[in-house]
Amino acid sequence: DAAMHEQATRRMEMEGALVDALQRGEFSLVFQPVLELEDERCVGVECLVRWNSPVWGRVSPVEFIPVAEATGLIVPLGHWILRTACTMAATWREEHDVDLHVAVNVSTLQLRQDGFAARVAAVLEETGLPTEGLQLEVTESAFIDDMDTALPVLQSLRDMGIIMLLDDFGTGYSSLAYLLELPLDCLKIDRAFVRDMHTDHKSLALTRSIVAMARSLGLSIVAEGIETVEQGAELRRLGCDLVQGYLYSRPLSEKDLLAWLTQRAVKAA
Ligand code: C2E
Ligand code: CA
Ligand code: CA
Repeated sequence: DAAMHEQATRRMEMEGALVDALQRGEFSLVFQPVLELEDERCVGVECLVRWNSPVWGRVSPVEFIPVAEATGLIVPLGHWILRTACTMAATWREEHDVDLHVAVNVSTLQLRQDGFAARVAAVLEETGLPTEGLQLEVTESAFIDDMDTALPVLQSLRDMGIIMLLDDFGTGYSSLAYLLELPLDCLKIDRAFVRDMHTDHKSLALTRSIVAMARSLGLSIVAEGIETVEQGAELRRLGCDLVQGYLYSRPLSEKDLLAWLTQRAVKAA
């Protein structure tokens, strides 16, 4: 039908436009604060990419990342994101005395590229960001049908001392078996669970068991998408370590992030 046709056309045009978007400098990065639930201290940020297209305006990564993955552009784009995020985080340390880690989302296709771990090492070296300043977020799709490729990469990143997070946990096919096999540090509980915790008993029960399971495996837990005080309180009761969400802060530009941090420091003093 007409709507489907329009959607297919938009996607095709987007595929073409994305190729030039990187060269034209149409991508930018925003950073969402990650806080310790206990005392609401900001310990890091998650880096999220934005596309400002001259044709479509702001396009959500939910729409363009899958297109970039389908065309392979995610590889150079992902590399640009990693290098830019590390450069910025290194500057915060050097010039603003801000010791935050930056968590970068890594697409499965990137992770499967030959020499991915070596590339990450090179970026750290080049930007001067210490290893503990970088975290990488991967999704279970990286492991589902190709554990043999993904596992050694994950292992070498972790051997380098990079904290590895499993993103969107609970939305796909993750099972305890995967978790036991993967060298991971942290689980990110998906926003869908947090959202439904108060209306759906099953969501609450699932979140509780995810937290308990992660605990017993020695993994730390980040919950994302916290929008209300009640959700924060519930996650605290469940024993969650770290949180991010609109309740604390939306994703911010680099400039706004530095201002947000300064303002909090002033308030705390
Ligand atoms: P994600 O990694 O699960 O990122 C979390 C998403 O939830 C972000 O959307 C963030 O802005 C949003 N969010 C955070 N707190 C709240 C909240 O309290 N309420 C609500 N309603 N939403 C919240 P965003 O930035 O649109 O990114 C969407 C997805 O796009 C990401 O999901 C990730 O899968 C992908 N993505 C974004 N940036 C990158 C990137 O640099 N590389 C790759 N490979 N994927 C990315
Ligand atoms: Ca993420
Ligand atoms: Ca997520």
